[in-house]
Amino acid sequence: MPEKLRIIQNKINNKAQLIAVSKFRTIDEILHLYHLGQRHFAENRVQELMEKKDKLPNDILWHVIGTLQSNKVKYIAPFVHCIHSVDGEKLAVEINKQAQKQNRIIHALFQLHIAQEDTKQGFQPDELIDLLNRQVLQSLSNINWVGVMAMATNTKNSKQIESEFHQTKLIFDKIKQDFFSDKPDFKELSMGMSGDYEIALQQGATIVRIGSLLF
Ligand SMILES: *Cc1c(COP(=O)(O)O)cnc(C)c1O
Repeated sequence: MPEKLRIIQNKINNKAQLIAVSKFRTIDEILHLYHLGQRHFAENRVQELMEKKDKLPNDILWHVIGTLQSNKVKYIAPFVHCIHSVDGEKLAVEINKQAQKQNRIIHALFQLHIAQEDTKQGFQPDELIDLLNRQVLQSLSNINWVGVMAMATNTKNSKQIESEFHQTKLIFDKIKQDFFSDKPDFKELSMGMSGDYEIALQQGATIVRIGSLLF
């Protein structure tokens, strides 16, 4: 029986980067994937991340994917690789400030609210484009903006998921063209989880965030 990691990697087939979502998982479960070569892991709660990271190898690249409160940024700023869940100006300003204090550049993505669900976080596309027009976010020199993250509605309707990911890709392309055309690092479309990553790949995802299917 091949490892779940290999099965998923084969399906991704180098079309995207796989981030292992390790929330709720034990240190041993994470180490198992680490020893198979996985280096990118994601957590959605700062407290859980802080408890785990000191018990794990320090060449893991940590991604934060959950709603992030500004007052918690200082804890992760010394080591976090990438924050996928930037959903407001205040949070972005705080990430930049804490990155500056640590003399680091933190990678970040704009989280877009695309799903037909109020519970999901993220910028409304118009709100993000307005901030970008005013050069508010691009001027934060210790953030390297690498792309856009979105979650589709939690539904069995694959047509709806496909349409939401397609819409996200169109907005991503527009933002890249209008605001980041001179920034080759702005190339990531982080979308797709265990239940919908194959649809996300078809719609142009460059990063998939997979938890339950991997463990
Ligand atoms: C939990 C989570 C995932 C992974 O979900 P699975 O269904 O377990 O693959 C991906 N992205 C975000 C933002 C999450 O919170």
